[in-house]
Amino acid sequence: MRILISGASVAGPTLAFWLARYGFDVAVVERAPTLRKTGGHAVDLFKPAMDIVEKMGVLESIMAHETGAAIIAMHREGHPGVVEIPQGGIFASVSQRHVEIMRDELSEILYNASLSTAEYIFDDSITSLSQDGTGVDVTFEKGSDRRFDLVIGADGLHSNVRSLVFGPESTYAHWLGEYLAVASIPNYLGLRDRSLMSLQVNRIAGMYSAAQLPDARAIFLFRPPEPLEYHHRDFDRQKTLLHAVYQNFGWEVPRLLAAVSESEVFYMDSITQLRMDTWSKGRVTLVGDAGYCPGPAVGGSTSLAVVGAYVLAGEIATAAGDHTLAYPAYESALAEYVRGSRRMALTAAKTIVPSSRFGVWAVIQGARAIGHLPESVAHMLSRAGSTTRFSIHDNVHTKDYQGMLRR
Ligand SMILES: Cc1cc2nc3c(=O)[nH]c(=O)nc-3n(C[C@H](O)[C@H](O)[C@H](O)COP(=O)(O)OP(=O)(O)OC[C@H]3O[C@@H](n4cnc5c(N)ncnc54)[C@H](O)[C@@H]3O)c2cc1C
Repeated sequence: MRILISGASVAGPTLAFWLARYGFDVAVVERAPTLRKTGGHAVDLFKPAMDIVEKMGVLESIMAHETGAAIIAMHREGHPGVVEIPQGGIFASVSQRHVEIMRDELSEILYNASLSTAEYIFDDSITSLSQDGTGVDVTFEKGSDRRFDLVIGADGLHSNVRSLVFGPESTYAHWLGEYLAVASIPNYLGLRDRSLMSLQVNRIAGMYSAAQLPDARAIFLFRPPEPLEYHHRDFDRQKTLLHAVYQNFGWEVPRLLAAVSESEVFYMDSITQLRMDTWSKGRVTLVGDAGYCPGPAVGGSTSLAVVGAYVLAGEIATAAGDHTLAYPAYESALAEYVRGSRRMALTAAKTIVPSSRFGVWAVIQGARAIGHLPESVAHMLSRAGSTTRFSIHDNVHTKDYQGMLRR
């Protein structure tokens, strides 16, 4: 059976790896001309995803690329000095296993793991999908037409496959009220294992770097009184809006904004949650952010993408490629994790960007208290899992599909 995956970031290569191991012929089409090597932003893998990358044999490589972030130095408006918080304690209270890694480094490791068993096509994109009883005819922007048994969209929050098969994004997208902006900037403070963050009412600004990064990231999370008007490819307009939102912020922000103005690697987007009743239509399904993004940076979506890809591949193998069995089994196996991630994202979006001065104080004090917990106590919190909205990951149990392995 031939399976086409759209998107080669996190979910795509993970899915390609497992499908090939189960004996399927896999092709991955990626719109970018090459695998991106700018680092992207820092992402997190929690326990269920860590277990899966371990089974893939890439855990060691991932650990060798961890960002090494140890301390968050938090600053509060009107208060001199910073509160230093051990980051390990915070993550230990969320999950018993965790690693933070730059997204592009994770993507490259997953890509390399699947490269020898999957066909990768860069610099192309699907333009149409036409299904019948025995397969899917696919046309591409550049390559020749091809026919596949199944097609899977792993092409992110603004998925092309989803638009082609399920219609406009606006039907499923729910804005959580915040925006997120990240830019690559010079590491002019020489940051290594310390991240900086300053909190004000409805606005956060920060700066971090990572062990292997030659540069740093400026990061902004904010809640404007009303939605912002801009085109998603109009970076100049986005930078202008960002400057306007952060005027008079003080702290390190004037220097960060000056660096952002010069930056060629810039991203700004609304924090949006996708809510679809089903991710599958006929022979096409979605995986990772394309199908169930709980909200970038607030819902543990990278872990969810890895787990989703693993479960989808396992269910396709279990059903011997019969999508009428595999897709419903995949959706049902993941449903609770997706619901939990959505709940967590709603809470995180509200908590992380406080809407009052008391909220700002409470976030810093709460982070300080959790960050300084002994690791054993923090792990107890994560084991309590379902009692805290932030520690949902460790309660996720996936089936063991090892019996389906062919290669
Ligand atoms: C600024 C920012 C900060 C974040 N911080 C965190 C964090 O702290 N922790 C965390 O866990 N997660 C975080 N995330 C979310 C995380 O990056 C995603 O959840 C994760 O990358 C999802 O992986 P994915 O493979 O599903 O989709 P993506 O990583 O979005 O990848 C989609 C892929 O599809 C490709 N593509 C797009 N369109 C097409 C097309 N037409 N044809 C072919 N290919 C296409 C893209 O080029 C890309 O390679 C953050 C996201 C952002 C944007």
